[in-house]
Amino acid sequence: MTKDDCIFCKIGRGEIPSATVYETPEFKCFLDLAPGNKGHALLIPKEHFANVFEIDADTAGKLFSLGTEIARAIKDETGCDGMNLVQNNGECAGQTVHHFHLHFIPRFEGDWDGLKWPQGEADPEENKKLAEAIRKRI
Ligand code: 5GP
Ligand code: ZN
Repeated sequence: MTKDDCIFCKIGRGEIPSATVYETPEFKCFLDLAPGNKGHALLIPKEHFANVFEIDADTAGKLFSLGTEIARAIKDETGCDGMNLVQNNGECAGQTVHHFHLHFIPRFEGDWDGLKWPQGEADPEENKKLAEAIRKRI
């Protein structure tokens, strides 16, 4: 999928209808067509960035800041007990629409099991070295 036939760019421009929760000149929040739970929403920048590796820090910061207000509004309206904020990057990580988006998935006590990943075991010394190696790249 290229930027030109990107479904979320089209939703951002209003060319494809969506159940819009909130909109600014830069961002749009709309309900997911295949929700994990009632109130499952997606927040996108209207500009096309494929994923977290492409989006700039300023846009991502503004998006997450707006996201805190959206999360509270969804919680107030749905009465959910908790919420998963999920953001997938790359097919191997479960991304199916390659336009950056943040999921807001309301959670209710006992609804369904997840979101879990298989948990490994880390060696503290190796973790220290890896943390330092990553830090050098920031
Ligand atoms: P991803 O798997 O890329 O993290 O999430 C993509 C999400 O977009 C999915 O939850 C999917 O249900 C949702 N989605 C895909 N196409 C559309 C659409 O045309 N409209 C809306 N509202 N949601 C969509
Ligand atoms: Zn796009």
